[in-house]
Amino acid sequence: MSFNIRATKGLKTMLCKIGDVEVWRILEIHAPFMNPEELFPTAGPDVRAIIENLVPGSIDPNSGRLILPIQGFLLKTPSHNILVDSCVGNDKTNQNHAAWHQRSDGRFMAALKAADVGTHEIDYVLCTHLHVDHIGWNTQLEDGRWVPTFPNARYLMPKDDEETQRLQNSNAYVESVLPVVEAGQVELVEAGHKLGDHVTLFPTPGHTPGHVSVLVKSGGKEAVITGDALHTTAQCQHPDWHFKFDADADLAVKSRRSLLEHCSETSSLVLGSHFALPSIGHVKADNGKFRWEERDLVSRIVSGFDR
Ligand SMILES: [Zn+2]
Repeated sequence: MSFNIRATKGLKTMLCKIGDVEVWRILEIHAPFMNPEELFPTAGPDVRAIIENLVPGSIDPNSGRLILPIQGFLLKTPSHNILVDSCVGNDKTNQNHAAWHQRSDGRFMAALKAADVGTHEIDYVLCTHLHVDHIGWNTQLEDGRWVPTFPNARYLMPKDDEETQRLQNSNAYVESVLPVVEAGQVELVEAGHKLGDHVTLFPTPGHTPGHVSVLVKSGGKEAVITGDALHTTAQCQHPDWHFKFDADADLAVKSRRSLLEHCSETSSLVLGSHFALPSIGHVKADNGKFRWEERDLVSRIVSGFDR
């Protein structure tokens, strides 16, 4: 298996430290999602075998579906607490995916608490894009009304995604975006935007029109949070695979390649928003393609990184 019990069940998970910035995993769901054939429609008939080979254990043997962690990342910088993506949330309308519909679950909040951060202490919520599994905890139900979960936070959202969702008037918009807009807590941003001294938004449009990945820099080190520019580490070898939920699949391929190039050239630590646990490693250039090298959690714990 490519993950250990501690990584799967442990809530208190500081994944790494980038200079002065602590990066914590805020895991909400670790469950089978959909069949690989459906998720990667252009990958050919061998897609299941290819993923099994490259990412052992990432396909659930019972259901045959790809296991997709749903997680955010908490960045504790010297000056701010920044939550990157807020997962599915509770009580949300998700008619297209029953397991995400009107959930009532404490795991996300427990993970935040384990990182010693209360909802009042989040300074920024940074949305890589505005899909339902990245914005759910933006809001919560209070006396039948959706209110921002993080009362003191500025919420940074990609401008083009906000426009798309607003025009569709989707449930996601009404439940997880509009209440934050109405509370005056939203800042619409574009790629290149800098948040404090350590965080920059990297353009990866395609999955959604305004999709961004997140660069974290401190002390001469860099980490990259992928967002949904990739969904499995197998896409390092196969960046050209289309993904079922990409708005513009060809543009997504271009963005995926440019992100992979950046990660390999800078030797950045890579944090995959949906990568199989432990979701952390490096991208290496490999004969015109790329390959994934997982970072070993056990050695990190032994070396005292975790706590
Ligand atoms: Zn996603």
